[in-house]
This record gives sequence, C-alpha cells and structure tokens, in this order.
Amino acid sequence: MPALRCEALLLRSVDFGESDRIVHLLTADGGRLTAIAKAARRSHRRFPGTLDLFNHLAIDGRVKPRATMAFLERAKLVHPFLGLRTDPARYALASFLTEMLDRLSPEGIVGPEAERIFEFAIESLRLLERTRPTPSLRLLLELRGLDALGLRPEFGRCVRCGRVAGEGIARDHRVHFHVADGGIVCTACGVRLEGLIPIEIGTLRSLKAGLASPADRLDRIALGARMLAQAARVVFRFQRYHVGVELRSERFLDEMLPVVGHESTAPPA
Ligand SMILES: [Zn+2]
Repeated sequence: MPALRCEALLLRSVDFGESDRIVHLLTADGGRLTAIAKAARRSHRRFPGTLDLFNHLAIDGRVKPRATMAFLERAKLVHPFLGLRTDPARYALASFLTEMLDRLSPEGIVGPEAERIFEFAIESLRLLERTRPTPSLRLLLELRGLDALGLRPEFGRCVRCGRVAGEGIARDHRVHFHVADGGIVCTACGVRLEGLIPIEIGTLRSLKAGLASPADRLDRIALGARMLAQAARVVFRFQRYHVGVELRSERFLDEMLPVVGHESTAPPA
C-alpha cells in the first residue's frame, strides 16, 4: 500500500466499533480524505489525544488502491487551535468553515488546488484564534472559502457581455448582481433579467479587497451597516445557490454571529 505522510486538518471524527475512529481530514497535498484509525481510542502512543476537531496534524498512514478509506497509523499534533474553544462566536464560525470544507472539498486532488484549500483552512483558523470575529469577518471568510473551493463570484466585469466595471457598467454608483450567473451584470444586460440584487460600487470594492487581502489582515476590512447588508445578500445567496446543500452549523452560526440581510430559512434565490 502506498504511504501517506503529510499535514492535515481534522474536520470531523466519529467513533466506530469498539475502539476505532473514522476521521475526515483535509490534507495539505491531496484534498479531502476519509481514514480509519484502528484502535485509536486505546492507543495513546499512536494518537496522543490528537483526533479532535480543528487539530492541525502531521499524519502517517497507508492508502489502499480503490478502497473508500485510508488507514491512519499515527497522528502527531502540529497545533490544536485551542483558542477557537474560548468563545461561541469563534467556535461557531470555525465549525461552519470546517463543515463547508468537509462537504465541498474534492478528494484526490493534487498541486495548487489542494494547497489553496489547505492554506485557506489553516490561515482562517489562525486568524480566528487571534481575533474575535465580527459580522464583516464572517462574511469575508465565507467568501474566501467559496473562492478557495473554486466558487469565486465575478465582481470585476459583466458576466453576460464582459464589460469591465467602470466602463459604463454602473448607474448611480450601483451595479447589479445576478445570483444564478454568479456575478455582476451591466445595465444593458440587466434589462431583461429578474431578481437582480443592487450593490453599490463601494461595497463591491470591499468584497474585492476581501478576496485580494492577505489572510492575516482580513480583520482590518470593516464594512459599515449598509454595505454589510448588501454584501450579505450577495454572498449568502450566491453561497446557497451554488453550494446547493444546507450546512448544519449555519443555524448555530446565525445565532452566535448574526449578519443583517441574511435569513437562513429563506429559499434559494
Ligand atoms: Zn453586460
């Protein structure tokens, strides 16, 4: 069996049988991976308290060709992210992001795609350990999570005709966002479309900055109440439409860190 040796983040773990544990991991160089840790609940030598949520690990194991699960033989703690357990808002947002990664990260990917997703995961948890999240930070981290997973909304040009924002695309400093097309549309293209979400140029600029900023400076981008409500309509409706699954931890997150403009029970746009 080929060896498996890399860094990983523990996204979910469930007890299995008398002493085994099944873990869902996000690996640094292969995307999502499900593995069984035999006798994990008995062996403190191979798994010294390491198989817990949010743990950043260095893992050793084996991959069996065509098997649904890998075998995890050892896991050493790199960083436990204990700071995420110190308050409910941090815990709720970290849980939501890890659930999103668990549900949407592809398996068996390699190279930059796998690295981008893993980097997003570690950097976000590091930021949340350092900073108590605000509604702005929640929104921007969700947006970056979607981006890392290959779902980036188009904020730069009209998704229908390609006209760049600024070349007559905005009227009254506003553009419109089309959820199904996943981006902004110009005034001409928007005429025939229904259900467009108006968005001000300033809000668009903040969302673009949120995508471009280094992760550790994301908490410096603060959206005012009106911009936040606009951005929330765009990002959350885009998320619900393009992700297509309801994430279980979203309701808890809405209670701990509400964002105006976001109604978790509303149907997809
Ligand atoms: Zn257009």
